[in-house]
Order: sequence, then C-alpha cells, then structure tokens
Amino acid sequence: MPMLALLILFWLNFATAKPSLLAPTIEQWQVGEPDKEPVSVSGLFPNTFMDPTCSEEQKSKITSAWNGAKKLIEAQTSFDSSHDSVPHKTFFGFDWNVKGDTEAEYRTTKIVENNERAGKLFKGEVPDNEQFNFYCKDIEDNCDESETAAISWYKKKAGNQGFIQTTVFCPDFFDEVDNLEELIEQYKDKPDEQVKLELFEMTDAITFLHETYHYRVVHLNKPAILDYDSKAGDYDTGSSEDNWYLARDKGTIETSVNADSYVFVALVIYLQQTFKTSNIALPEDMRGKNPSERESLGVSWLGRR
Ligand SMILES: [Zn+2]
Repeated sequence: MPMLALLILFWLNFATAKPSLLAPTIEQWQVGEPDKEPVSVSGLFPNTFMDPTCSEEQKSKITSAWNGAKKLIEAQTSFDSSHDSVPHKTFFGFDWNVKGDTEAEYRTTKIVENNERAGKLFKGEVPDNEQFNFYCKDIEDNCDESETAAISWYKKKAGNQGFIQTTVFCPDFFDEVDNLEELIEQYKDKPDEQVKLELFEMTDAITFLHETYHYRVVHLNKPAILDYDSKAGDYDTGSSEDNWYLARDKGTIETSVNADSYVFVALVIYLQQTFKTSNIALPEDMRGKNPSERESLGVSWLGRR
C-alpha cells in the first residue's frame, strides 16, 4: 500500500462527514509540549523551527524534500491552467475550469488561490506571524499507524497572532521514501518509465508538498485541505490511481479540498516539463487509453461501488 495513503491529519477522524465548501472544519489541535523546543533554522520557510533531536542526516533529508517540493510547486504555479488543462482535468476532475456552473467556478478559483499561496510560501512570501515547526520524533504518538510518512496540524499562536503549522516526519519518511531527484536522474533516458506515475509517488518531495497543502497559511481554512482520498472511507490508499478515481467520481467538490489531488497535478506537470513527454504520466491502468475511454472507465467503476 503506497505510503502516501497515510500522510494523515488528525482532523480526519472527522472526515466521514461529507466535505463541503460551506461546512466548518476543525480549527486546531492541542499539541503536547515536546521535551525540547525546536530551534530556528534557515534554508526552509521563513520562521521555521526544527526539533533539536533531528540528526544531521534527518535535517538533510527534510531539506531535500523541501527543495523537491519547491520545484513541484513552481511547476504547478507556472503552468497555464486557464484552459482545458489535461493535468487539472485528470486529477481535479472534469468540472475543472468549467463555465456556467457557479459553484464549480468557485471551486476552481479556490484551487488557483490555494496554489498561489503555496507558491508564495515556498518563495518566502508569508506573513511574519506564521511559524513552521518540524519534528523528527513522534511527539503525538501517531507514526505507528501503518505506513505513516508524515503528519501535520496547526494551532493558533498565543495572543491570536498567526498560526504554528507543525509537521512530524515519521521513521518511514526517513527509511522508506525515495528522493524524487534521484528518480528523475534514474529515469532520464528511459521514456517508457517516465510516464509511469506510480514510480514517482512515494517520494520525499511529494510527502513534503502534501503536508504543505494542509497548512493553514495555504488554505486559510476556507475550507481546510484534508485527505479525502485516504480517509473518506471509499478511497483507502491515497495512490495516484485512487486520486484518479476520486477526480472522476467526485470532481472538484472533493478534489479541491484533498491534498493529494493538488500534489498529483503538480507532479505530472513537473514530470512532463522535466522529461518533455508528449503525454502526462498516469497510473498503470489508465495509460494508453484515450480520454473518453478513461471517462467511461470511471463510470463503470462507480457502478461497482
Ligand atoms: Zn494528509
């Protein structure tokens, strides 16, 4: 089971409720005090603090993930999505950028705004009162859940001055997750592999960018971006295949509030720009089919549910 599945937020205990752009989401999570306060680090987001028990190797892995995520969000935000974008239609759904449906248009606007804030965050353009805490130890005892790579939450800072967004990087992140750039190098001369999306899913950059989309500073809780692919009950792995089905089945109603949907759009754009492939990378079962076939595949799958 792909690890991406379980990059969870605690809020997702509540995710059996139908997501709605109008529904309130859980605002914050009380965080236990760690043994040692995190210390300020540079080279990541502004106002980033790192668990002092992180080893140099762990810090290096987090930094590599951040650098990879930055490339992904740059691909995401530099891409012209104002048209019938194939990556967006594929992983946000066929109601991406449709005209004449006010609610769908609103969700497209929200997606664009969330991407723009994520892009600004990686450029360091973030309000001074926002803070980011990274831990290498499991301060809230959540990493033991199977195949959890990272977990994030946020809480309001004292005095109502901005938010602390916290990410715990679990042992699986350090032990099991590949480095995206190494895979890019590995497959640079292998065009048949460059369109196999599953090869690039369990990577550090993907994990990091996924967590970033959970940050309040990105979604402003209007509404929060959660994990509907892996926690809503019907989708249980968070793989690219599951996210492809989520887009077909739910469209932007759920993909606009689902972290992996954003991440897979960014990934397929980045892979296509990097490898200069004519087609975007897709999950195995969806490769080599034309869009109408893929659409009907989604409908037949709906019938099985
Ligand atoms: Zn998540």
